[in-house]
Amino acid sequence: MLCVAVAPGVGAAADAPAGLPTVVVVTTGGTIAEKTDPTTGGAVPAVSGADLLAAVPGLAAVAKIEVVTYSNIDSSQMSPERWAGLSRAVGQALARPEVAGVVVTHGTDTMAEGSYFLDLTLPGDKPVVFTGAMNDASSPFPDGPGNLFNAVTQVCAPQAKNWGVTVTLNGYVNAARTVRKTQTTNVQTFESGEEGYLGYITGGKVTRFNDADNRKSLPLPETLPKVAFVSTFAGDDGSLVRHAVDDGATGLVVEGVGAGNVNEAVYGAITYALSKGVVTVISTRVPNGAVEPIYGDAGGGLTLQNHGCILAGDLDGQKARLLLMLGIGKFGPDAAKLKTLF
Ligand code: ASP
Repeated sequence: MLCVAVAPGVGAAADAPAGLPTVVVVTTGGTIAEKTDPTTGGAVPAVSGADLLAAVPGLAAVAKIEVVTYSNIDSSQMSPERWAGLSRAVGQALARPEVAGVVVTHGTDTMAEGSYFLDLTLPGDKPVVFTGAMNDASSPFPDGPGNLFNAVTQVCAPQAKNWGVTVTLNGYVNAARTVRKTQTTNVQTFESGEEGYLGYITGGKVTRFNDADNRKSLPLPETLPKVAFVSTFAGDDGSLVRHAVDDGATGLVVEGVGAGNVNEAVYGAITYALSKGVVTVISTRVPNGAVEPIYGDAGGGLTLQNHGCILAGDLDGQKARLLLMLGIGKFGPDAAKLKTLF
């Protein structure tokens, strides 16, 4: 169940000296708010937002903190609809003139997508920092408190302006557009590949490496259109793409191989999608590089583009799906206009 509960002046804020910036921490759940149940051995939601903040030594000297509880769920349960509600809740906090920026605590599994959804939909330039933890609050090595400290530090730092929404864990600052989770259990999991980190935080100091490029801004539609995502593979018979079309998708992202290629059977299925007016975007499963119109055989990237597919460039498939959803929300299924977004 999602709710928005505001607790001003809790945790670290209780003893904050006057004159410090106000930072709102919006909590959504994930490992950072979990503890391992000694009976079952499974990590389960256990820690409130106020308790999370109270576990961070020194935070009260950095900012005046307010906690907003949005949800307490594992991020595998997140969805574009839930991120739309989160975007509204964060937007409300940012609209308050005294708020310097917002920290969002979120499970790491879908953080790369959630942060990008908010990057696309939040107005203004105030900092928004997603953070979380790989080790839960009962672990001998909890990384949540340090990550929270760094996230709040980043919101308050003059070196960290105009980065949009970032994913900041283990000291590294990643742009929402480029970040990927790359390791299932290690604290050094979020990386930005060949695009590089935006910055690094240590000892309460932010070092800036890069600016965030290629940011887009789109309105939140009343309802989000149905956009399917299909990852293709050697020997794919195209049935998943055909199913997505028959299931009523308005848009479709096909994650191809290499520089954005599919086999002949999938090409046939994509031709079917296009004939039904389904806007089709081609991304790649390769983590670095971009989709390029190189190959002219049945299913090659050049052929797909000539046939009316949009190439996703270096945007990964899951994020291309979110951009396509919001783009269709703004332009409708107009491939020519949607192409300008990618
Ligand atoms: N299962 C967790 C989640 O994504 C993993 C984490 O938070 O690190 O909610």
